[in-house]
Order: sequence, then C-alpha cells, then structure tokens
Amino acid sequence: MNQKIIAKYVRKGGTQYWVIECPHCGRRHWLKAGDYTKDPMESLGLRETLCGELVILESQCRVCGCTDALPCPGGCHWVKPNLCGRCADIILNRRYPGHKKQQNPLPATGGGGVAG
Ligand SMILES: [Zn+2]
Ligand SMILES: [Zn+2]
Ligand SMILES: [Zn+2]
Repeated sequence: MNQKIIAKYVRKGGTQYWVIECPHCGRRHWLKAGDYTKDPMESLGLRETLCGELVILESQCRVCGCTDALPCPGGCHWVKPNLCGRCADIILNRRYPGHKKQQNPLPATGGGGVAG
C-alpha cells in the first residue's frame, strides 16, 4: 500500500510543483507538475518522491480542507489546484459582494477553461 499525501500546489516561474512533506525522510519535496500550460491535477496520483518512495499525491482544498476522498457534503470539484468549487464560490461572493450566482441563459459551451 502506498501512502496518501496531501500535496500543496506551488507555481514558480513557468513551472508548477506539488510540494509535500515527505513521510519517509521528513523533508519537503518539490515534485514537478509540468509547465504552467499543463493541468497540474494530471500530475497527482502515484508519484515517486525524491527519496525514491512511491506515494499517492492528493489535492486538498486550502480553505475547507476537503480532498477527493473526503469531498464537501453534496460533492464538489476542483476549480483550481487546492481550491474546490464550493470555496471558490464563497471567495467570489466575498470579493464581489454584488456578485450572485444567476441563472445564466448562455448555453454551456463545454470545455475551454478560462485563462488567467
Ligand atoms: Zn523524502
Ligand atoms: Zn473547499
Ligand atoms: Zn470541497
């Protein structure tokens, strides 16, 4: 059995990383998640740490602490690394108090993330 580890998303320059506290050597490891155009979520799952141990990397919401294994009640999804959809809504409402979720008449176009 491989150990599950919460990985923290860090972007430095044009490169993305998942940072973990290594359970084997107690040090912090920076595992590359590709350059910034890649979806870092694809780099989660089974990874080899710098000390040669296999672990399973998991994202965790930095606000509410939910994970794939323990999502928010009712379920949620990742809108950003370390930020789930529920908390993203809350943050958006806090930042733009006038902003409310509206019934948007625009048809869903599917795919195509918003850059920036
Ligand atoms: Zn290690
Ligand atoms: Zn959350
Ligand atoms: Zn959540």
